[in-house]
Amino acid sequence: MRSLNSDMSRFSGRQFTQRIVYPMAGIMILMIIVVIGFLILSARQQNRLEIDGSMRLATTALQVKAREVGRNLRDYTIRPDVHENLHDGIDLGWAVTDGNIGGTLYSELGYEMVFVVAPGDKTIYSLIDGVPTKADAIELMPRGLRDLLHVAAIQPDPTTSLIKSGSDVYVVAANGILPPSIDRSTINPRDLTMLVFAKRLDQKFLDRMGHDYLLSDLTISFDEQHGKEASIPLMTQNRMYLGTISWSPPKPGNQLLSFIVPPLGMALLVLAAFSVLVVRNARRSTTALEESATRVSHLAHYDALTSLPNRVLFRERLDTALSPLAQTSQIAVICLDLDNFKEVNDSLGHAAGDQLLQQVSERLRSCISYNDTVARLGGDEFAVIQIGSSQPHDAEELSRKLIDSIRTPFIVEGHTLHIGVSVGIALADTTDGAPERLLKNADIALYRAKQGGRATYRIFEAQMDAELQERRGLEYDLRQAVLKNELELHYQPLIDLENQTVAAVEALVRWRHPMRGLVSPADFIPLAEETGLIVAIGEWVLETACSQALDWDRLRIAVNLSPVQFRNRELVETVRQVLQRTGLDPDRLELEITESILINDAAAALEILNGLKSLGVKIAMDDFGTGYSSLGYLNSFPFDKIKIDRSFIGDLSDTEKSGAIVKSVISLGQSLKMVTTAEGVETSEQAAFLRQQGCDQVQGFYFSKPVVAKELAAFVERWNSDKKQRVLEVEAA
Ligand code: C2E
Ligand code: MG
Ligand code: MG
Repeated sequence: MRSLNSDMSRFSGRQFTQRIVYPMAGIMILMIIVVIGFLILSARQQNRLEIDGSMRLATTALQVKAREVGRNLRDYTIRPDVHENLHDGIDLGWAVTDGNIGGTLYSELGYEMVFVVAPGDKTIYSLIDGVPTKADAIELMPRGLRDLLHVAAIQPDPTTSLIKSGSDVYVVAANGILPPSIDRSTINPRDLTMLVFAKRLDQKFLDRMGHDYLLSDLTISFDEQHGKEASIPLMTQNRMYLGTISWSPPKPGNQLLSFIVPPLGMALLVLAAFSVLVVRNARRSTTALEESATRVSHLAHYDALTSLPNRVLFRERLDTALSPLAQTSQIAVICLDLDNFKEVNDSLGHAAGDQLLQQVSERLRSCISYNDTVARLGGDEFAVIQIGSSQPHDAEELSRKLIDSIRTPFIVEGHTLHIGVSVGIALADTTDGAPERLLKNADIALYRAKQGGRATYRIFEAQMDAELQERRGLEYDLRQAVLKNELELHYQPLIDLENQTVAAVEALVRWRHPMRGLVSPADFIPLAEETGLIVAIGEWVLETACSQALDWDRLRIAVNLSPVQFRNRELVETVRQVLQRTGLDPDRLELEITESILINDAAAALEILNGLKSLGVKIAMDDFGTGYSSLGYLNSFPFDKIKIDRSFIGDLSDTEKSGAIVKSVISLGQSLKMVTTAEGVETSEQAAFLRQQGCDQVQGFYFSKPVVAKELAAFVERWNSDKKQRVLEVEAA
């Protein structure tokens, strides 16, 4: 739990942004850049490929056009009639008039220039735009035609070249006029008459070529600044620059981009929106997780009811305070335990108990200083870590303050509650410093404070520990005793002074310890009360006494009840069941209670007393005069008997005061119609005095010590036989 907490709290919202959001956003942006970059590159690549392809196509188209010119030319140069009429001088009638080499070459085949050049580069026939002229071919095409003619003369097939004429570029083909019937090897190439066809690379030509080869927007320019993406240079045979054909090829890459970018953009937008959503959700759940981790951490370290630090946090703080780094030894651990809290809880219920604890917590918190810690260790146990400057003075002062603050009554659900707090102090510099030891010592001191009358404090001393060990041993033994039936009952008679009979016997518990011998109830009843064992012991006593009483005809049996048994609402039911099981007449059972049950919650006590009364049993107020309650309750509570505490009887002979008190209690009892019993009668003088004062019953060693059942029976028998003598003795005194 702790490690989960710390892990979670370490993972804050800011860290979430740093560890998750930033890297994710980074990766996304990088991915988007990569994708866009890749797209642009491949689009460019596509465009490049297209340009290269269209350039190859344009080059091929030009070559095909040139070959076409050559083929057209060849159709003429191999004709025997052409050889006949153009070789060795020209027959103009045949050429022009008959239309053999005439206007149709321009109008149908589109050759702007046609020349017949005789050996010695002498133009003997020129057709310009289909019209015969006297133009000289070499003059019209001064650069390139002569070279072409010389190369063509030695080639059987037409030779083509690009040649400039004026401001235009022409595809020019030349071929010697030589029908196949003449053996070429018998002819000197210089003697050949050459036929020349020239086609102008004008816009019409380019449009046609573009149409045929799907090249759009072909233009020709005569410098290299054409401003278009694709171009091919026009060169002569001997690599002289003539001009450039340029065009705008399609851009499939751009098309691809324009096709892909909108949906891609949309996709990226959606992705981005989705990512924002995912991050927001993740952030939200991280925040929720963080909050729940904080809650868990708070639950793990703070008490849910009072919001004080709990035992876990207390230990952490104590460890820190005691660590060598803290460099302070003036530390006190102060353990607190509420007095009478259980009574409040039992009588008013848990909700009221919770409210009381909350109010107590507030008061404790207001007592400590900023550096100190007050924690709820559980139930009604609290503890303080005090960092003092002068111990034990500081711890004592704080303890007094704490005790005083809790002493002030609390108001819970309209009830005014008086509780107290017992305090145990342990000082770090007198202990070996181990946190567990310190806490344990404070607890031992607390126990001593409780024993010392509550609402007080004790500082731990070494011998307290030994005493506690002893007590622990005793506690263990007592538990064993209950299990092993080591408890036994002794009985002491109560004598009726008026008619000299044994009126009742009081059952008094004893513990026959294998080592310690017979242990007095004064030594183990408080321990049994603290540990709660008294409930089991009390029930055993009640049952044993009631069954024993069945053996004694008419004798009333008195059984002591502890205040601890009184806290339990089950008490009435327990008594009822015991009576039912044993079959004892309820009228013969007398329950002895002490004033202390009335101190905390008189209303609850009255309710239980009334419950007991309704069973038909008698109630006696034991040890009367030792408590601190007012006499008023005698009137309002259903007591049948007052037992005057033996301390007053013992003092009878020494002080007059005791005599006066005893007298007035007897008369008080009489006026309230309660039986009065005097305890601890040891002498005949005491017995006589009490009889004189009108006391109803006496109990004491003078008559009999508490004895086992058999001896009690013998006593009763003896008493009945010589009671006269006893009475005489009493009277004589
Ligand atoms: P208690 O109820 O007041 O019992 C009377 C005590 O006075 C008994 O002490 C008895 O032995 C003693 N006593 C009787 N006559 C004389 C006398 O003449 N002189 C002197 N000095 N003492 C006399 P015990 O038996 O030691 O019991 C002490 C207390 O322990 C009882 O006081 C009672 O409060 C408690 N106790 C005894 N048995 C039980 C029990 O079964 N349940 C509970 N809850 N408490 C018991
Ligand atoms: Mg008693
Ligand atoms: Mg008593």
